[in-house]
Formats: sequence, structure tokens, C-alpha cells
Amino acid sequence: MRPDVLNPLFAESGSLKGVGPGLARPLEKLGLNRIRDLAYHLPDRFVLRRAVGNLDEAGLGEQIVIALTPRDYKQAAGRGPFRVMAEDAVGNYVALTYFGRASYTGKKQLPLGEKRWVAGKLEQFGQTWQMVHPDHVSEESGGMIGQLNEPVYPLSDGMTQGRLQGLVHQALAQLPLLPEWIEPGLAAKMDWPRWHEALPLAHKAQNVLARDRLAYDELLANSLALMLVRTSNRNRQGTPLVGDGRIRAKLNLPFALTGAQTRSIAEIEGDVAQGAPMLRLLQGDVGSGKTAVALHAMLIAVEAGCQAALLAPTEILARQHAETLTRMAVGTDVTITLLTGRDKGKARESILMGLIDGSIDICVGTHAIFQDSVSYRNLGLVVIDEQHRFGVGQRLMLTQKAKRTPHCLAMTATPIPRTLTLAQYGEMDVSRLDEMPPGRQAIDTRVIALERLGDVVDGVGRHVEKGAQAYWVCPMVRELETEDIAAAEARYAALRERFGDTVVMVHGQMRPEAKDAAMEQFSRGEAKVLVATTVIEVGVDVPNATLMVIEQAERFGLAQLHQLRGRVGRGSQQSTCLLLRGEALSETGRERLALMRETQDGFRLAEEDLRLRGGGELLGTRQSGDTPFKVADFEQIARLLPMAHDDARLLMERDGGLSSPRGEAARLLLYLFERDWGVQLLRGG
Ligand code: ADP
Ligand code: MG
Repeated sequence: MRPDVLNPLFAESGSLKGVGPGLARPLEKLGLNRIRDLAYHLPDRFVLRRAVGNLDEAGLGEQIVIALTPRDYKQAAGRGPFRVMAEDAVGNYVALTYFGRASYTGKKQLPLGEKRWVAGKLEQFGQTWQMVHPDHVSEESGGMIGQLNEPVYPLSDGMTQGRLQGLVHQALAQLPLLPEWIEPGLAAKMDWPRWHEALPLAHKAQNVLARDRLAYDELLANSLALMLVRTSNRNRQGTPLVGDGRIRAKLNLPFALTGAQTRSIAEIEGDVAQGAPMLRLLQGDVGSGKTAVALHAMLIAVEAGCQAALLAPTEILARQHAETLTRMAVGTDVTITLLTGRDKGKARESILMGLIDGSIDICVGTHAIFQDSVSYRNLGLVVIDEQHRFGVGQRLMLTQKAKRTPHCLAMTATPIPRTLTLAQYGEMDVSRLDEMPPGRQAIDTRVIALERLGDVVDGVGRHVEKGAQAYWVCPMVRELETEDIAAAEARYAALRERFGDTVVMVHGQMRPEAKDAAMEQFSRGEAKVLVATTVIEVGVDVPNATLMVIEQAERFGLAQLHQLRGRVGRGSQQSTCLLLRGEALSETGRERLALMRETQDGFRLAEEDLRLRGGGELLGTRQSGDTPFKVADFEQIARLLPMAHDDARLLMERDGGLSSPRGEAARLLLYLFERDWGVQLLRGG
């Protein structure tokens, strides 16, 4: 049970003042369901504004606060923007520009002839100055001066910065006083603020100490939880699985296993033959052939008379895995079934029956395969694909529910540098696929300026005419979600106009059925061009797709670009990856893209990514999906995780039951970061 002192933090966001039904969806979309989530919804960056007396004092591109008097309204023709022409103290004019429905707000806030304080970014539009959608308009100067340093939060549709600021403010007012869980000597040495001070500080201004402390908390919670799982696992009874090879002998793979695959399978075979449950990580770059290893591992379980389950992070991937495995296992009479959250009614019932009576040998699916309502007759092995997408331990925990703990194989394409593997994955055993299947050709990677878009589209045309397929990836960043979706839709429309209905699209906001349909058309080869956001990043395998275009490549991290590029070059044909870059490319951006051209070694790219980010780029380089962390960014993980790991180990050595005062505090920490499955193991352990 969660300690009472944390209850206020886990109250629903809906209980805050001013949260009507209209905000429910935006909050949910941002994952801000409870007060805790709001308190930890840290700004991506801060806007620093300067108050200026008139426009001549301001620079182009600068964020300013200024007093202006609206003089005239101009509505552009058609669906063009609405402009308020406003005058500063010395007779300069600036256009305050509004698009769409924002025009109504603009007009209301800016009556002609009345002085208003306006905050926003000064830009140029033709011969005049302009501010697009000013951030604030107020009758008083007072409030505006308070906004000179303002947090910028990740947003979603239907949520504004102002609203979110208000909610965060309320959430922060409810922070309880919690005992310190960080080793006191360390906290003092690092000069870190206490937890209840650190959160407000991190929302107020760019505060490295506060951000570090909060990140460290998360990393410590993760390390501790992993150690608890590991310890508990050692004391558990598993089922020794010894396969006699009779099913594997019937396998008819179209290729010979690589040395690395054979070695990994042998390591797994050795582990699962033991009484203690296996906890092994299979690390292998994109395209190194992890699926075939997983199949062998699962067949060992089936040969030994048990069932196996494969957990994938997305439905697209689960579906594809089920198909691939079924194809690979033709002729073996092993029964493989797909189970996702979408299976309902009779279909679902019959799958559940098959799992209970053991007529299904291998179950592939999303997290739905571990819901309470799903029971297995004899689950011997769980494989978790694309491990880095899940919080490690939570999934491991699922495997610990059974009376006899199944063996666990976690697989990752690891954008995580070698140096961090140990800390990130606790003390799991690791197998490495450090050898690519033979015959792979280097992917021809080129960086191309966006102005040459026309040439690129022509290139796609020639490619498709030859009978090959292509991916076209559009970026998607949370804060600008709507605009990004709009941009992707626009690109889709343009490509469709050119190439007709052989162009299909998938993005995260489409209905699952529509996504599946598009994916299926593409993988069957009926569709030639797949326009997609990063949803295709993990695991998708269509060997005939040999061209990948990535728009605004500079907006992606290296690890992500590497994952995306890994969608092509999967067959023996020459593949190409075109990185389209925008005009305003930073030094780091340039370096990143150059590296992509230079190397295809995922480990090297991950390490370079770390180095490039280490320079202390802007806040907000957190990339959902790359790591199981929400607070700690990449650079913090590199710097603080080893410390957290040592700290956790020390605490476990001194107080493995977490019963000392600091141990008790650490339990709070585990609940706070929802790694309380660690605590539950402790009790049951
Ligand atoms: P990942 O490690 O990224 O999950 P996959 O398992 O999807 O990689 O394998 C990538 C591609 O390589 C697949 O098309 C698969 O059939 C092929 N493949 C796997 N192992 C070998 C091998 N030993 N020789 C040749 N091709 C292989
Ligand atoms: Mg894979």
C-alpha cells in the first residue's frame, strides 16, 4: 500500500481548481493524470524576455515585452491571417498577426486606441515588424514584468502555456515534506536542494542543481528497483527447460545463423536449463537478427513442454512478429497466436482458452498478454522486444507473478552506449549480437538541403517505377504536435497527388484499424510509399523498401535517426537514406548529420550522441522512448547513473530490507516514481 503521506500527490488532476471536462483530454494526452505528473511536468526551456521602451531598442528574433497602441485591423483575403497594426511609443508600427480562430481572441484583447502590454517574439514580415500570436496581452505592466522569465512546457492540442502554468502552480502548492532518500554526504557534496525545494526551483528558472537532483532521484529509484528484482529473482524457483532439439531440427530458415546468433542461443540454452530463472539481455544493433534468436529461445521452451510469450511495444510490431514467426516456423506444427488489446468477445475468449489449455505454444502481443485476466497453462519463457521502450523492471515484475517464475529474455537495439549498459539494466546477464548477417550492403546515406525537395520527389518516383518501395518520414515533436501532424498530412497529400493511391500514411493519432490497414498494404507491397511519423521507428521489417527519406533530419537525435535508417538495408539490395535538412542548421546539427553519413555502427553513434549532447545543449533533449526515464535526459543519465547505481548497491548491502530510516525514505522514492513493484517484491520476497 502506498504510504499516506504521498496521497495528495496521487490525487487526480481533475480535482484541481479550474479543470473542467474540456481539459480532461489534453491532460490525459500529456500523461498528466495526477498531481504528481503535473509537478514533474518540467519545462522544456525558458523564454527570457526583455522589456523595451520602443521597437528600435529590440533586435529581430528577440523575445520582448512592450507597450503598444492598436491603430488598425487588417483581414487578409481568403483564409489568410488577421493583423492588428499597433504603434509603439515613438511611432513605429508592428503587425500582431493571428491565424484561424485565434483572430477572435486577438481582436478582443486589442481594442483600437487603447494601450496594451504585449509579450512575444519580434520578427520581420516584408518591410514591417511582426509578432505572430503574441504570448501575452495585458492592460497592466505589472503582470508582464513578472513574465520576463517564463517556463515553456510541452503542450498538446487544447492546452495553453497559461493554463498549464496555473495547474503546475497548484500542484506544487501540495508537495508534502518527505524525508531525504539520497545519501546525506552526497547531497551535501553536490549542493543539491531538498526534494520539495527542487521541484519548484526546476519550474521557475533554468536551475542545474535542482534538475540534477530530480533526475538523480529517478535514476536512483530505477537502480534500486532493478536490484530488488534481481535479488528476488535469485531466490526464486524457475522451471529448468531442456529442449531436445526436435522442433528446431524441423526449422527451415532461409539463412544460416551468424556466429553471434549461435553463441547467443547457446548462452540462453545454458541459462534456461538452470533452476534459477534466466534474466538475460540480448543486445544487438538494428537488423542484427534478434527475432531469429528469440524464436530459437521460444522453441527450446516449447520442446521442454512449456509455453512462451513475446511482448512487443506496439501493435504494429506485435502483428509483424506474429507473421514473421509463423512464417519461420512453417513445418514445425508449433501454434503461434497474436493477442492484442483489440481482440474482443469470442475471438479473445478462444485465445484465452488456448492459453489456459496449452493448445497455444507461443503467444505474441502487446502488454495485453500480461493482463490479470490472461492465464497460461505453463509459461516457461517471456521474451520482451525493444526493451528500452518499457521500463525494464515493470515488465520483469510481470514475470514474477507466476508461482514458478518464467525465464526472461529482454531484447534491445540499444541506442545506449556500452558504458551505460550495466547501470541501465541493473545486473542482468548480457548477450551481444556483434556481427551482422552476411551480404548486407552499407546504406548510402546523403544529406540534402530542403530546397532540393523537387529532386528528391523525382527520385522517389524513379525508385517506385523500378518496383521498389520507399519510406517518407516526417518529424513529430510533442510541443508542436498539431503542426507536425498538419505537416505530415500535407506531405502525404502532395505525394498522393503526384503518385496516386500507392501512397499510404501512418501516424500516432490515426485509428488503430486505419494504421493496420496502411501498414498491411505497405508490407504486402501494394502500397509503394509509406508516409509516416516516428511510429515506424521500431522493428518494422519490409525488405523491399530500400529508400528512406527523413524530413527535417536535424530535429532527430542520432540514436533515433539510426533506428529509422535501420528500416532499410534489410535485404541484400543496395539501400539509400536521404536526410533532408532545413536551412538553420546548428553546429551540432551539422556534426550529427555528418556522422550519420560516416558510420552505421549503432554503438559508435550512441556514444557520439552522448558526446554531442554532453556539451549542454538546450534543455528539452529528453526523448521519450529512447530510455525508460521521464525526468533524466541523456546527458544526465550518462553523468549521474553510475553514481545512482553505486548508491543503490550500497544501500542494498547495508539495508536490503529497506527498513532503516533511509530505507523507509527510499521506499517512498520507489512509490513516487511508480517503481513500487520493487517494494512489493520485498514484502513477498
Ligand atoms: P532486429 O535485430 O533489428 O530485430 P531482425 O530480427 O528483424 O533484426 O532481422 C533483420 C533481417 O535480417 C530480417 O529480414 C531477417 O530475416 C534477416 N536475418 C536474420 N538473421 C539472418 C542471418 N543469419 N542471415 C541472413 N539474414 C538474417
Ligand atoms: Mg527487432
